Amino acid sequence: MSKVIQSIRGMNDILPEETPYWQFLENAVREILSSYGYGEIRFPIVEHTELFKRSIGEVTDIVEKEMYSFGGEDNLKYSLRPEGTAACVRAGISNGLFYNQTQKLWYMGPMFRHERPQKGRYRQFHQIGAEVFGYGGPDVDAELIILSARLWKKLGLNPSLEINSIGSIETRGNYRNALLSYFTKHKDQLDADSLRRLERNPLRILDSKVPQTQDLVKDAPIMSDYLSDLEKAHFAGLKNFLDDASIEYTVNPRLVRGLDYYSLTVFEWLTDKLGAQNAICSGGRYDGLVEQLGGKPTQAVGWALGIERVIELMKQANTSIEIQKLDLFLVSGNTPELKREAFRLSEGLRDALNGVKLAVYCGEAGIKSQMKKADKSEARFALILGEDESASTTVVLKDLRQRAAQETIAQKDLIKVLSERLAS
Ligand code: ATP
Ligand code: MG
Repeated sequence: MSKVIQSIRGMNDILPEETPYWQFLENAVREILSSYGYGEIRFPIVEHTELFKRSIGEVTDIVEKEMYSFGGEDNLKYSLRPEGTAACVRAGISNGLFYNQTQKLWYMGPMFRHERPQKGRYRQFHQIGAEVFGYGGPDVDAELIILSARLWKKLGLNPSLEINSIGSIETRGNYRNALLSYFTKHKDQLDADSLRRLERNPLRILDSKVPQTQDLVKDAPIMSDYLSDLEKAHFAGLKNFLDDASIEYTVNPRLVRGLDYYSLTVFEWLTDKLGAQNAICSGGRYDGLVEQLGGKPTQAVGWALGIERVIELMKQANTSIEIQKLDLFLVSGNTPELKREAFRLSEGLRDALNGVKLAVYCGEAGIKSQMKKADKSEARFALILGEDESASTTVVLKDLRQRAAQETIAQKDLIKVLSERLAS
């Protein structure tokens, strides 16, 4: 036997027993986002590395150590996308979507980050994102949060919401200086990563997961003390909309996001049911990004959710997803003629019964063992076409879920009988 080829660490297969959860989530997202007037956008999985460097920021986990890059002389020319926002903005600029227009968009697909794999943290994972362009007010910030809350409801989930305002770039500059002097005073207590970020990006230290650093963060200066009146009004406006929609939230003055491009509103949906991986959806406003990537100044706000973590929560919450079972399983005698007749019959049924879920047995087994497979398939009815049925142009219909007697039905009546039975 040849050597078995393993899958790549941190990259998962999603098997047929799992996909109903994915489909349920994807359908819910499609339904809700299109009901709010959002359009789906699809963009490539590979982009110039430069795009992510310039948007996410050089001094971030993603750009410093998590990107899969290749190509060019230094093997760093292209990267697998580690997130969707930058690529979505690039696509918007490339296609002129931001010229005198507003856009409400969503996307879904795989993202790649070279992280240490563990439960809820993978190297290929999947995100769904929503991004809105061309609106500056807190109303869209609120809309994005409100529609995600609607999604949680539909999925039977109950995560908690944290919000914060991190101000404009100018405000953050002042805050940054305050942080810099605070953390410099306590330099000896910082972990190595935070120490390295001290000069270039002290805000990032607030996001540190090292317990000792987190203790230090507790007494650090607070962003809200640095917000201007306009920035405070934006945040107050957001809170009003959320209150009106009866959405509960906590203001977490320490909440910053892992990426550099955010401004004003930031938020995160959290759960205590997934251990250390507690964030299921994060987002915020990023008014500077479009311009930073070469477009004309365009206000923007969005969020992204991690599909794997949301599905894990759905399983824990016993979310009832509809699993689409087979309606019919067609069993036939094992001669070439009977098999051809079975195929003809099944295609006729598929033509006439819109959306019918019908499996036809393929293979060499006898009728008895085909019936066992029909039963195991969880189909509702078996259709049996043996020598006798063929000779009399009939077929046997057997209800596999009830102990009713089986019936012999003329093939010409089959469509009518089945449409009645399947409807009940
Ligand atoms: P974390 O703090 O858990 O590392 P993050 O801040 O890096 O998350 P974002 O870049 O904001 O995450 O991505 C949005 C969502 O994508 C997260 O809330 C999470 O649900 C999911 N996510 C991020 N990284 C991974 C990963 N490696 N594997 C699975 N899901 C992930
Ligand atoms: Mg991360």
